[in-house]
Amino acid sequence: MSKLINCPDCGHQVSSGAKSCPNCGRVISSTVATLVVWAVVIVLGAIVVNEMTLRNQDGAASLKELSRISQQQTDRLRHLHDSP
Ligand SMILES: [Zn+2]
Repeated sequence: MSKLINCPDCGHQVSSGAKSCPNCGRVISSTVATLVVWAVVIVLGAIVVNEMTLRNQDGAASLKELSRISQQQTDRLRHLHDSP
């Protein structure tokens, strides 16, 4: 049983069983894959926060740097996930 989901890029309705959007070609993540990606992102994020906290005892650890790193990790994961 597959349901229809909205393509995150173009909003076209796509079967959740489809691998990619028939309209724009965007790779559609399955729910499980999405959960796995998020779990990895959260774990990596926790590690980064932990290291930042240790390195910057005053807590001023630039949130900018932190978000830059997590953004990089998210992009990397997304890239890996979207690769054939
Ligand atoms: Zn699309």
